Amino acid sequence: MKRFEPVIGLEVHVELLTETKLFCRCATAFGALPNEQVCEICLGLPGHRPLLNKKAVEYAIRAALALNCEIAEQIDFDRKNYFYCDLPKGYQISQFFNPTGTNGYVDMVVNGTARRIRIRQIHMEEDVGKLVHQGEIMGSATSRVDFNRAGIPLVEIVTQPDLRSAEEARIFLQKLRTILLYAGVSDCKMEEGSMRCDANVSLRPVGSGMLGNKTELKNMNSFRSVQRGIEHEIERQEEILEEGGHVIPETRHFDENRGLTRAMRSKFQAADYRCFPDPNIIPVIPDKDWVARIRESLPEMPDSRTARLTGLGLPPYDVEIITSDRELADFYDAACASYREAKTLSNWIMGEFVRLLNAGGMKVSESRVTPGQLAALLALVDNGVISGKSAKEVFEEMFATGKDAEAVITEKGLTQISDSGELEKIANKVIAANPAVVADFKNGKTKAIGFLVGQVMKETRGQANPQVVNKILAEKLNNC
Ligand code: ADP
Ligand code: ZN
Ligand code: MG
Repeated sequence: MKRFEPVIGLEVHVELLTETKLFCRCATAFGALPNEQVCEICLGLPGHRPLLNKKAVEYAIRAALALNCEIAEQIDFDRKNYFYCDLPKGYQISQFFNPTGTNGYVDMVVNGTARRIRIRQIHMEEDVGKLVHQGEIMGSATSRVDFNRAGIPLVEIVTQPDLRSAEEARIFLQKLRTILLYAGVSDCKMEEGSMRCDANVSLRPVGSGMLGNKTELKNMNSFRSVQRGIEHEIERQEEILEEGGHVIPETRHFDENRGLTRAMRSKFQAADYRCFPDPNIIPVIPDKDWVARIRESLPEMPDSRTARLTGLGLPPYDVEIITSDRELADFYDAACASYREAKTLSNWIMGEFVRLLNAGGMKVSESRVTPGQLAALLALVDNGVISGKSAKEVFEEMFATGKDAEAVITEKGLTQISDSGELEKIANKVIAANPAVVADFKNGKTKAIGFLVGQVMKETRGQANPQVVNKILAEKLNNC
């Protein structure tokens, strides 16, 4: 029995998908040469004033609504003051007193158990520059700074300390990513840094309602690394507490290669930042109608989709795969509108469709096959026009060319032979050529029919409808 229970709260920074920065017109595109996308405003040169990007505010509200938050009556910005070489102005513009959204939540399922994680707040802030270290971050001799990222709009999403394991934290983060992708506010790429997660970790005696001393864990740039980093930190704190020691509140760095966390600096207190309202930025009072329009423009979100697809009779695994990607879910729904066999459709989409997309390194939106075309193909299989086996071949061709199923079937001559007249001729021929097998069948070896079906399939190069062949042969053998 464990004596201590982990308590985890996450602070997640997400880059918004605007084309320009939060307070200037510099581009936000990833991959430019260092310090190419900078200006007087984002470098904080004297005499220049920030101008708020409306699109960023819209995306922040959108994200807040997607996370079930209440929207602030007034959105304003504050200066968070500190000195660091990635911060050209000596302060970061953030929202300290009036975050865009508060009191939200994310629902998720962890190992079959429903869990609700409360969102304390979501606020906007500008990103800082990026330090490029030579060698390792700890003890690096030289660091260079690239300000392209300085001023890019972010939202920071802060959870309550509601997470209870490293795995739960990872699942939360994945769910959060899915929600934000559905909302279309960020591309949430952990590898490119457009989604970054700090994890606050503490332990407390099992059953206690108190919060223990926490550490804040940084530098985890994949979902797996978030889980591993937290696991290591929990183990480290467990050892300290088991020996009767105290956890020092501090910021720690996760060393992915060594699989351990190391102290970086003692934690700043909120008071250290001397936050105050930025006198250069006029507060925004979001219009109620505008907020209502943003809410209405959100697509059907993952939880509602999950409930609806489950209602169609799909197993949880299928539902999870299909809803994990909004485009895939849209594709499913569109195909489902004209092809009603929910499970057959999910098999095809999760199987052939996703396989071909992955093989081509493609997104759903890049597919040449439309949902309607897939639906039409599956109807042809159900009507016996082609076999399930040739359907895969047909689909591959449709995927490569964007042609309709009928066109591909005609071109390839794949129409299944269900015409019993033609099949009877072939069946007669096969029976005549295999008297020994027929005798076996007559002597009670009913399985011998399988061999004869195989021979007919061979004669027709796989194009015969096996059910029809079976029926014809059974009738002939029983009557001869
Ligand atoms: P700080 O004052 O250190 O900034 P906050 O209270 O603002 O701490 O919380 C920051 C994050 O840390 C939130 O996600 C919160 O849920 C989480 N958190 C707060 N206290 C604890 C704790 N004792 N253990 C784990 N996480 C915590
Ligand atoms: Zn700029
Ligand atoms: Mg705080």
